[in-house]
Amino acid sequence: MNKEDLIVVGGAGGFIGGALVRYFKNKGFSRIRAIDKKPLPYWYQKTPGVENLCLDLSFRANCEKVCEGAVEVYNLAADMGGMGFIERFRVECLRSVLINTHMIEAAYRAGAERYFFSSSACAYNVELQKDPNVRALKESDAYPAMAERGYGWEKLVSEMFCQEYWAERRLKTFIARFHNVYGPWGTWDGGREKAPAAICRKVIEAKDSGDHAIEIWGDGHQTRSFMYIDDCLKGIDAITHCDELIATPVNLGSSELISINDLVSVAEQIGGVSLERTYNLEAPQGVAGRNSDNTFIKQVLGWEPSITIREGLMPTYQWIEQQFRDRQAGKKTVEDLP
Ligand code: NAD
Repeated sequence: MNKEDLIVVGGAGGFIGGALVRYFKNKGFSRIRAIDKKPLPYWYQKTPGVENLCLDLSFRANCEKVCEGAVEVYNLAADMGGMGFIERFRVECLRSVLINTHMIEAAYRAGAERYFFSSSACAYNVELQKDPNVRALKESDAYPAMAERGYGWEKLVSEMFCQEYWAERRLKTFIARFHNVYGPWGTWDGGREKAPAAICRKVIEAKDSGDHAIEIWGDGHQTRSFMYIDDCLKGIDAITHCDELIATPVNLGSSELISINDLVSVAEQIGGVSLERTYNLEAPQGVAGRNSDNTFIKQVLGWEPSITIREGLMPTYQWIEQQFRDRQAGKKTVEDLP
């Protein structure tokens, strides 16, 4: 790619899209178009020198407008959140299919060279995820399909669009199945936040209030792997520029499995506190266990995400703590803007 080639990033007002824009800017790309339906003051990050557009990408005309002249299109726009969101708002999650169908068609018509789609581990067959002592999920485990209702099925269908646009129309598409991404500049309160951010916030709140208690969703034995944002960005870049991976879904996740109880312990250690735990068995908790089998990505790229949860949770905790203090001081935070 030339540094003057136009890069288009959908969902750039969100966590991963916002970080990806900054990543490309730091790599020296001079023409980046960032789009999100959220009004600009609500974007988590705004990188200077970037064309920022507030547009709803579920409309075809908007997708056509933003893809004009694009050399590479990265589509990270989706109506999504943690388990609390995707279990309650399946219609919203399914409606992201509008974004994904219009964006890929617009990228194709604009003659884009590469199209990246952010899929999810929620596309995997839920029947394989009923035991916390999981066998890590490999790419072929998505079929026979029994994805997470709503969100996971939408991802699976949109993956298929990517595969058929390559098969029939020769648009180079790239599909990463993200496994739980976390880090600074993500949502940390309000209902869409995911486990690492929610747990950091709860530890910070408990310390602050002096009420040394924490409510954990589920029995705490559920297991997951969590990928730090820097690994995610590196992976998106590497996947999108590897022709061996055209139209081929690939896991992009950490293979370090951890239970929610242990994740709480890591956050407690960072916060220097020990909390009384209660378990809310009625709360959304998703599948019992999930991990990323990284055999394929290692084989193709010779790389896998490697930042440990201890390394990644520290800056995440510190950033959320600062957000929490800013809110207490009456300053605006990413959750309260504008
Ligand atoms: P996010 O919610 O922070 O960002 C998504 C952004 O898309 C939001 O800013 C939202 O306003 C925007 N958006 C929603 N509908 C839109 C529309 N119609 N037009 C324009 N913008 C719209 O989420 P994220 O964590 O940054 O996730 C990015 C992508 O990665 C999503 O596709 C998500 O499904 C996928 N993913 C994320 C994770 C994770 O752990 N964060 C895991 C698996 C997959």
